[in-house]
Amino acid sequence: MFDLLIRNGLTVTPEGPKKLSVAVKDGKIAGLFDCMSEIPAKETFDFTGKIIFPGVIDSHAHVTYCSDFFSGSRTAASGGVTTLVEMPQSGHLPAIWDESILKQRIASIDETSVVDCALYGGVKANHMEHVEELIKGGVVGFKVFLSDAGDYGSFDDASLRELLRIAHNYGCLVAVHAESQSICTMETQKIIAAGQGAEKNSDSRPILSEVLAVSRLCTLALHEHAPVSICHISSGQVADIIQEFREKRLQVSAETCPHYLLLNSEDVIRCGAWAKCAPPLRDPNTADGLWAAILTGKIDMIGSDHATYTDVQKSDGSFWSAPGGFPGLDLILPGLFDEGVLRRGLSLNSLAQVTAANPAKIFGLDTCKGSITVGKDADFAVLDPKSKWVFHAADTFYDTKSPRYPYEGKTFQGKVVSTFVRGKQVYKNGKILAERHGKYIPASR
Ligand SMILES: [Zn+2]
Repeated sequence: MFDLLIRNGLTVTPEGPKKLSVAVKDGKIAGLFDCMSEIPAKETFDFTGKIIFPGVIDSHAHVTYCSDFFSGSRTAASGGVTTLVEMPQSGHLPAIWDESILKQRIASIDETSVVDCALYGGVKANHMEHVEELIKGGVVGFKVFLSDAGDYGSFDDASLRELLRIAHNYGCLVAVHAESQSICTMETQKIIAAGQGAEKNSDSRPILSEVLAVSRLCTLALHEHAPVSICHISSGQVADIIQEFREKRLQVSAETCPHYLLLNSEDVIRCGAWAKCAPPLRDPNTADGLWAAILTGKIDMIGSDHATYTDVQKSDGSFWSAPGGFPGLDLILPGLFDEGVLRRGLSLNSLAQVTAANPAKIFGLDTCKGSITVGKDADFAVLDPKSKWVFHAADTFYDTKSPRYPYEGKTFQGKVVSTFVRGKQVYKNGKILAERHGKYIPASR
């Protein structure tokens, strides 16, 4: 007798989408059966007309930056995200610099999260002594900046090389925010001196700045044989550079975000600081180029870069001094389904690859996560492909429900109607069904 049977959905398996019944026992996928077969289970869900995706892994979340795992994990569940990969830095907690801080984060996941979470570790250029204990604690990798990152700190070539040597020794991933700070600083200063604003956001941090930083990082990583991941790339041009290094056998992965695919520089003009992020949103042609990179398999994974600033935080000072980043982790699956699958020919399989299978593998979570395969965790995102809906922040689980963010009022086709984490239905039609259920998932390598 199985615990659960998910019947009649179009199930996106690694071999392609099939109409199947998925049986679950003890939180794991225990069998995949023909829809016609009679399978005994304690509880049955009929998902006729729905698509069953492997639970989404958000490769780049900042739910603890302005908020916490309580609100962030509920937002995740509402968008079919079953594993959050949370970044180490926070606006109100210490960054994950060492084992004791790591333990505090794990405790808050256990206490409040409804979805599973993995964690990045933090590291400072002149303090690499805690790297080993964090790796033993199961962090998926380390997040570093080549550009300015305030108190969190950034890396120059020499310290980056040191970190890459350590990464090589442990087989541990280094994820990099790659922009050239000197280019960004100078271009921004010129634009401010000319009295210009949001319309120049893309020029203030040009693609060239990403190109330079990514080339530099990949050259160093190739030299040190270290695995690296390039965070939130904003253009196909950068994807092409990464591809060149991949062909030189560098173990490198490329991440982009839903906003570089669904929004563009016009949205920055419309929403100002509420659509500000780094790298910035680009023009529509660049977004087309990024889609081409996804369709040709040059992008490995999708990270939301989700952060929920209040209107006060966003409007304090000028556009240029406002903090970068905005929410959207609940829109990864509906956004990529609507724009990618329905309009641009992205296959259901490729969508499952970039949102689940690839990040699971890259982060060392694939012993339990990443695909609808017997033996893996029963993590599912159930999407109604026909449902058209309008996004309103007021309907979300964000702690800040500002209507000024760029997705407000946008129509999507494809709605997440149900989310399962390790066999438990944690979300259904706008409601969270669990108090807490999520756990920390350490990387295995
Ligand atoms: Zn980020």
